[in-house]
Amino acid sequence: MNKDYYKTLGVDKSATPDEIKTAFRKLAHEHHPDKGGNEAKFKEANEAYQVLGNAEKRRQYDQFGSSFQNGQAGGGAGQWQNFSGSDFDFGDLGDIFGGMGDIFGFGGGRGRSQQRTRGRDLEMLVTLDFMEAVFGIEKAIHFHRSATCSHCQGNGAEPGSKVETCPTCKGQGKIAQIQRTILGSMRVESVCPSCHGEGQKYSEKCHVCSGNGVKQAETELKVKIPAGINTGESIRLSGQGDAGAKGSELGDLFLRIKVIPSKKFVRSGYDIHTKETIGVKQAILGDKIEVETVEGKLTLKIPEGTQSGTVFRLKDKGIPILNSRSRGDHLVEVTVKIPKGLSKKEQKIMEEINI
Ligand SMILES: [Zn+2]
Ligand SMILES: [Zn+2]
Repeated sequence: MNKDYYKTLGVDKSATPDEIKTAFRKLAHEHHPDKGGNEAKFKEANEAYQVLGNAEKRRQYDQFGSSFQNGQAGGGAGQWQNFSGSDFDFGDLGDIFGGMGDIFGFGGGRGRSQQRTRGRDLEMLVTLDFMEAVFGIEKAIHFHRSATCSHCQGNGAEPGSKVETCPTCKGQGKIAQIQRTILGSMRVESVCPSCHGEGQKYSEKCHVCSGNGVKQAETELKVKIPAGINTGESIRLSGQGDAGAKGSELGDLFLRIKVIPSKKFVRSGYDIHTKETIGVKQAILGDKIEVETVEGKLTLKIPEGTQSGTVFRLKDKGIPILNSRSRGDHLVEVTVKIPKGLSKKEQKIMEEINI
């Protein structure tokens, strides 16, 4: 269910920010629920505008769309960069809708006491092999989250049921009670128990989610793990957490990364360290040896007169640096192995050359 926000707003992928704004305003007026419009369509347009109306979110949405062509569940953005989640332009909506805020949870309005709360953030541990972390990988992850009920689009009402003003609170979403205390009478307001602060009731609850607007769903997501990631780092997938009550903003999903250490390579930042042992003759006369790197086997030239403990640097043969084109280096520490138990003949030669 990868949503095509451009289609929703009826604009081209190349539309300018002004064109997107104009398209959204037109749709918003057309589907304005207070004017008898279609609330679901209005919400859809609003959702699309929240993304496309924001340069950064739009860029990520565009990237996401092209890198996950198969349209994975949830349709969210499997991106490394964060959506800030809080930069939605309320002011822009305000001038269009005036008192609409309360219906869509933007605050204000007729004093509803229940604010729609954002869905919970979720956290998951993702374990990667050493090489997966070095070069990045696309991983399918499975998890449970509460998702917006597709039957009722999250509003909790059986499609086709009638909307009525809540008789208990008369649409206020809260009820006032007078409590007598030792200090005198106090007026106490509480959320209407009948409509849970919505101020309205549906003649029939959605039979799939029992009117909650959300239900537990198993989710599979394909996530691009960027090259160079390391243990302790995490990836935030905006809007892939729990759905909030009645269609409010989704929480985020955080993937905590754990990388299994390699038996061959020691990682230090973006550099890789390995050790090689060479013989006395190789150290004295020089040689070429084979070194295993993350790129495979490479030839390292040992110059003549190499001392034990010398570190050779294979430039840019280390780990790709996150979100950049540079790489760390591969460092090879060479140890010269001094032979023991020489034969008489070898001892004699050593005496002769006297080194
Ligand atoms: Zn439902
Ligand atoms: Zn009520």
